[in-house]
Amino acid sequence: MAADARQFVNPEQPGYVGFANLPNQVHRKSVKKGFEFTLMVVGESGLGKSTLVNSLFLTDLYPERHVPGAAEKIKQTVKIDASTVEIEERGVKLRLTVVDTPGFGDALNCEDCYKQVIAYIDSQFERYLQDEMGLNRRNIVDNRVHSCFYFINPAGHGLKPLDIVFMKAIHHKVNIVPVIAKADTLTREEVFKLKSKIMEEIAKHGIKIYPLPDCDDDEDEEYKEQCRQLKAAVPFAVVGSNSIIEVKGRKVRGRMYPWGVVEVENPEHCDFIKLRTMLIAHMQDLQEVTQEIHYENFRSEKLATSKRTRAEGGGGGGDKEDKLTEKERLLLEKEMELRHMQEMIAKMQAEMAGGKGAAPSQNGRPAPGVKSHNV
Ligand code: GDP
Repeated sequence: MAADARQFVNPEQPGYVGFANLPNQVHRKSVKKGFEFTLMVVGESGLGKSTLVNSLFLTDLYPERHVPGAAEKIKQTVKIDASTVEIEERGVKLRLTVVDTPGFGDALNCEDCYKQVIAYIDSQFERYLQDEMGLNRRNIVDNRVHSCFYFINPAGHGLKPLDIVFMKAIHHKVNIVPVIAKADTLTREEVFKLKSKIMEEIAKHGIKIYPLPDCDDDEDEEYKEQCRQLKAAVPFAVVGSNSIIEVKGRKVRGRMYPWGVVEVENPEHCDFIKLRTMLIAHMQDLQEVTQEIHYENFRSEKLATSKRTRAEGGGGGGDKEDKLTEKERLLLEKEMELRHMQEMIAKMQAEMAGGKGAAPSQNGRPAPGVKSHNV
């Protein structure tokens, strides 16, 4: 009998209720459930998109990839291709979906290229909206595009007209992260010049790229320095490779040239590590911006359009079915607002209870598990 009399140990000190632990609970729940993240890569084919994605996540996302020949390329329109992998690291699961647009920039007629990409982004928003309105809300799979790496040709002298049109067409829908492809084809000075030219053009044309969040004053110096360096590196000049090369006894991922090896993960050689750090450290922020800005834009636009259509079309008749839908819609709208507010309150509470938790992200937000993704 005495053996069963194990005492429940209060994890808290006397005098504390324990709500300071709430952020850890949120953290544990997210770790268990795992993260869902969708990354889209856009750019001309041959710029090294798939090589970079494989290098980033140390996984081969495209094992059976078919590389089209020249004749095929001319006929080809944009074909959207989504691959999902589950990566687990130190108990943290990441369900990563990479959306590739293999033929972009190949076809002679590129006018409609971006339309398909937009349609894809919108269709994922639409799906999420429908799921949110449905019965199975707790188990929604989030396939919305959280970030888009936009690959810029290193051989151009800045942005091409298509780059400008494309980025402007998608910047209100997705977090654009501009990337200079194949940076090993440029000298250090050329990279520097190309970066400032691209940033100038981005500002001149009013293109909105993903704004890396500012650091809070109370963050430690190391984190502040990291933020500063990441911001200064945009657009990230990257090199990708799927080969492992031995350099002075070290095994590195790199590209071997007659004059030496370009090391992908060497910050002196390119911005690959900075890009990966940005993605991992700001994964939660990218998701939040997608939810709070891009998805909200889509949702409110959608509701406004459907209201307008109903006002224009269904004025007189008083069709019973229509009225029912109207009522239901209003109800759902209110419910979603309510849920949104609840989420905001929960988030604020978590922030107040201690942004100083195990894995703080920018803005003092707790970033559940994100730091553990040291892929
Ligand atoms: P994608 O069509 O954009 O997905 O391009 P791939 O990843 O298939 O790469 C096309 C070619 O470029 C391949 O021969 C790669 O080995 C090469 N490549 C990929 N990344 C780099 C890079 O960073 N620098 C250089 N010089 N070549 C690269």
